[in-house]
This record gives sequence, C-alpha cells and structure tokens, in this order.
Amino acid sequence: MPIQIYNTLTGKKEPLETVEPGRVKMYSCGPTVYDYFHVGNARAFVVPDVIKRYLRDRGYQVLHVQNVTDIDDKIIQRAQSLGVSVDEVVDRYTRAYLEDLLRLGCEMPTVLPRARDHVGPMIDLIRVLFDNGLAYAAGGDVYFSVERFPRYGQLSRQEVSQLEAGARVEASAHKRHPADFVLWKAAKPGEPWWESPWGRGRPGWHLECSAMSMAYLGERFDIHTGGADLIFPHHENEIAQSEGAVGHPVVTYWVHNGYINVDGEKMSKSLGNFWLFRDVADRWGAPVVRALLLSKHYRTPIDFTEEALEAQARGLERLYRTVGDLARRLHPDAPQLSSEAAAAGPAEQALERVLQEKEAAFHEAMEDDFNTAMALARLFELAREVNRYLTEAEPAPQPGPQPTLHRAYRLLIRLGGILGLRLDEPLHSRADDGELLVPLVDLILEVRQQVRSERRFDLADQIRDRLKALGIQVEDTREGARWILSDASR
Ligand SMILES: [Zn+2]
Repeated sequence: MPIQIYNTLTGKKEPLETVEPGRVKMYSCGPTVYDYFHVGNARAFVVPDVIKRYLRDRGYQVLHVQNVTDIDDKIIQRAQSLGVSVDEVVDRYTRAYLEDLLRLGCEMPTVLPRARDHVGPMIDLIRVLFDNGLAYAAGGDVYFSVERFPRYGQLSRQEVSQLEAGARVEASAHKRHPADFVLWKAAKPGEPWWESPWGRGRPGWHLECSAMSMAYLGERFDIHTGGADLIFPHHENEIAQSEGAVGHPVVTYWVHNGYINVDGEKMSKSLGNFWLFRDVADRWGAPVVRALLLSKHYRTPIDFTEEALEAQARGLERLYRTVGDLARRLHPDAPQLSSEAAAAGPAEQALERVLQEKEAAFHEAMEDDFNTAMALARLFELAREVNRYLTEAEPAPQPGPQPTLHRAYRLLIRLGGILGLRLDEPLHSRADDGELLVPLVDLILEVRQQVRSERRFDLADQIRDRLKALGIQVEDTREGARWILSDASR
C-alpha cells in the first residue's frame, strides 16, 4: 500500500509521491528560542520525528531540516525583561531546546539551521522578490505585496479582499494593503541588526523559513510540517515568498498537527495555560509525555489532563514490563524451550499468527496518514498477547532456541522504535540523553578550544575526527565550534 498523507493545501489524503525516488525531503518549523518549550510545542517536534522514523522503516532516505529561529521580536523582548543580552537568551534556550528535544526521544534533525547564519540567503531572496515585483520598501522596512501574488490565501482558503480587517494581520502605516507582511525590519536602537541594501535591520520571521528550507532542500521538496496555528499567516506567507521567488510550487505536502487543549482551550504561551515539557517529564517521565502525544491521530486535538498522563503511564508500565520479561526469558542463561516444542506447539503457532496480524495492522495504521493512535494501540495489544503467552500458555522450559519469542522481541523493539519508544531500555532511567550529552559534548569542545589556542592543531583535529566517528559533527566557525548529531550515531 502506498503511504497516504493528508495535505492541508488540497484538503484531502493523497498517496506519497516524492520528488526524488526513495528520498524524502522534509522541513519542520522549529522553535523560537526565547523560553523552554511547552507540551503543545513538543507535539510539533514529535510528529515529524515519527513521520521520519516510519518513512525510514519503509526504506526511504529522509533529509530532515528543522530550523532554530534565533532572530525574533520575542527574543529581544525576553532579553529586555531578563536584563541580559539577546545572545545570552539565544544561547540559553537553544541549549535547553536541544536537551529537551533529545529527552523527548526525538532524533536530531539532519540539519538544524539557525536563522542568524542565513541572513545572506534571506537578503538574496528579498532581492529576487523585488525583481519579481512582489516587494516594496517603505519607512525603512520592506514588505511583501499580497495583491501582486494571485495565489495568496490558497493554504488558509481566504480571499485577499477578506483579509482587509483581519484581526491576525499586523497593522502598519507604511503598508499598501493590511495583509502585506514584513520581509525586512529596520533596526531600532539597541536591537541586533545586519547590513542590507535597505539599511540596517533584521529579516522577518516568515522569510527565515523560506530561505532556510530552500537553502537545504532546494526549490522543490516533499513535506513541510508545523502546528495548525502556523497555517496562517506563517505558512501562507512562506508559500507567497518561496513561490513568488521561484515561480512554481516548492512544497508538495503541507502537514499540520492539532493543538493540545487544557480545559477546552489551546495550550499556549499567550493564554498562560501551558505546561513546560521538562516539568511534566520530570514528574511523569519523558516516554509518558511522548506516548500521550502519540495517543491521538496527529491532526486531532489532545486534552492534556492528569488522568490522560496516568493512563499512558499505566499502559507503558505494562508494555515495558512485558518486553523486560521477554528479554529475561531469551537471555542465554535462562532455561530454553526446544526448537521442536517452540515451533510445533499450538500456543506458539497462535502467537506467531498474532505477531503477523499485529505487525500488518500497525503498518496499516501508519500508512493511513501516520495514525499513531491506532499504531500505538496495536503495539499495546501485541504486548498483551505476548504477556498472556508468557504467563499462561507456556510449556515447561527445555533447552533450545525459541524462534517465536525471538521474533516477538524483535518486533516489539522495532515497532516501538518507529514510535520513538526505546522498549529495550528501562522506562524510568535517565533515558534522557540530552541531559548528559549536551553538556558533555560542550565540555569536550571547550577542552578542544583550549588545545587549539595552544596551536596543537593535530590533537584538535584528532578530537574532531573521533567525535565524527561517534556521529557528532563539529564545525569550526568564527563564533566558535558548533556541533550536531549526524545519522551515523543512530
Ligand atoms: Zn517556519
């Protein structure tokens, strides 16, 4: 069965057809680094992570770009309210984001571009929009003219004429049309700025994603993800900029995840009804939060309650316990069943059928627009059947291999892995790579910096190469060393 994927742009499920055969190029809107992320934000990171894991299981190579917005009004305001520099805010919350992302069980994106490193391509993009008659300068700012882009409103299904008095459209005296949006903002005193043909200033948020997605994924790529709150204006504007620059559609499938609700209202920073991911993870464990986020189809809202967390915690306890029991049974020192008994008994045959059924049903769910709710339910059912076999149907142990149980174990680990649950690790461990990994790599790079400053470049290169072999790619920039986890570490 081809994978079906719901496309916000067309309003229906479509079979996945990639630009390049066997390869999926996906962009996800990452965080604005001015605070720790909350459970609602976490969903927008878990959804592309599961899509990526499933597509890879299906044999696709996945190139995943998830940006960091480190130029934004919110960051400047946060720095002012904390009385620290903008750089300090960016540094603190980028680090926290990476820690939390790993703790949430997400793989590092293949590329994690930061807006600050891409101001050049953003300026280039504005130039092209000027050339194409879609941009104008006014009052030190540069705006995109929505009336000049006939397809404006296609994603959010709105007419430009209806946007005149739109509440979510920022008003400005310089705009030609109320729905025009800023591409370049003139710097006010005390704000960070970059030189541009239109004077000192900084890029608009929407522009950041257009420039960074096309910089890494090209002018045509497959999937763009983000929360449903980004459909308008963020993604609508991104389409206008990217298509307006290259003259054809850039993204094939627009994928949007639903909200996390608290007492019937969307969890959001501005409403003040948010739970920070790290606080909930401290109390319930990160896998419980992840399971809750996967317990509904990604387009469906989730009610965030103590009861919902408790239900997931109980389910995961049983799941992990079954996998642990199975691992102990399969341990080389444990008493073994003979191969004849294992292959021939009716209980084994029944279990074998269950494995096949549940695996097929899991794939059926994931193929149908990544229905993790159904897939997770099939995983729980699989574990229940295995547990029943272990406790009820098992004949007296004899020496020999147990192929059905081995298959059951491998299947549970593999299907759990697609959902980003590491069932072969204890549920309540510090499975929180991020907590240790980020400061550890930072420490190694600090030592390496010292080594470099003593001009011992051979040793510094050796450290870089050894890290690379471990899947940690180090890049030396003018501002110091940066690192990302590459796929090789997985
Ligand atoms: Zn974005």
